[in-house]
Amino acid sequence: MEELVTLSKYPFLNETKQYVKDNNLSVIELLDDPLYERARAIGVERLENAFKDRDVGNRSLVSESDCIMEILSYPIARMIAVCVDDNYFIRRYALGEAVHAYKNLINESTNFLLEIAQEFKFNIKYEEETNKIRIYFKDYLRNAPTHYKEWKMINRTMEKGFLHIKHKELARIIQEALRTRINSELDMRDCNKSVYDIFSSDIKRIQNTVITYRKKIQVEPIGKLDLKKLPPCMKHILSSIQAGENVPHMGRFALVSFLNSLKLKTNDILKLLSTAPDYEEEKSRYQVEHITGSISSTSYKPPGCEKMRTYGICPVDQIDNLCRKKRHPLSYYIAKWGEEKSKK
Ligand code: SF4
Repeated sequence: MEELVTLSKYPFLNETKQYVKDNNLSVIELLDDPLYERARAIGVERLENAFKDRDVGNRSLVSESDCIMEILSYPIARMIAVCVDDNYFIRRYALGEAVHAYKNLINESTNFLLEIAQEFKFNIKYEEETNKIRIYFKDYLRNAPTHYKEWKMINRTMEKGFLHIKHKELARIIQEALRTRINSELDMRDCNKSVYDIFSSDIKRIQNTVITYRKKIQVEPIGKLDLKKLPPCMKHILSSIQAGENVPHMGRFALVSFLNSLKLKTNDILKLLSTAPDYEEEKSRYQVEHITGSISSTSYKPPGCEKMRTYGICPVDQIDNLCRKKRHPLSYYIAKWGEEKSKK
């Protein structure tokens, strides 16, 4: 029973997938058989909780049946997520699964975390006597949230290519790796017609929730900023952040320093960033305040077009005629306002 509880807490493990396979359950049975009605309801619940609370949520795992339903709800949720067919929603769902796993992982033993880390092929060294955990720098760079200060390489001790990390940090790195894995797995899948037909009312309801949410974040005025007048580069960075895509540090820096130059207040900048599926207020506030100079001695200026191109964050396929006449994203934005005034 203990093993079954573990599998239901970590349904993404190969061992859990094997358990489902060994039980010879067909997709049709999962979708249709009244025996699995509860698993289907939990599958939908996972998705709704992930979108609402950024966590797929806890359920009772007391009986064998509780555990089996929890395990089966995971593939069901994934199949439905694909049929919702919305990038932002999928990112948010993947985050909900990963955050949920993290909350469980921090309470497990380090040896258990190491077993999970093996599934992600991390190169890790662990000294049980001293409780020292070290991870190969490439695995660290690939998965650690290095856009936050405490995760930056310069703030880590490196020993022969391995970085020291704590138990909780290993759990966080697994969270990131899991989030990326779920995102890319779901991106590659197509919606199964039977899944769509059976869950059509849930899918439509979720799609409507996502549309309503999108409209809300798009129409809410943010300071004096007019999102429609943003140059293509800033629109692109912002929409990538909002879709939960991996935006390079320079992209985030360019956006925040640009918004700061438009005199947007920290809270308004955070309001914009908070629409990202993986937004964390405390850490984002630190980053923003650092760039805007509220907690550092420098208020950074936004990069010009040439620098943006050098860093690969000017979307060359999206530039328009105004871009061709300007050399700075700020001049673009100001010219857009000018265009509007001259029409009045
Ligand atoms: S040309 Fe300049 S303003 Fe236009 S998208 Fe590129 S960086 Fe932005």
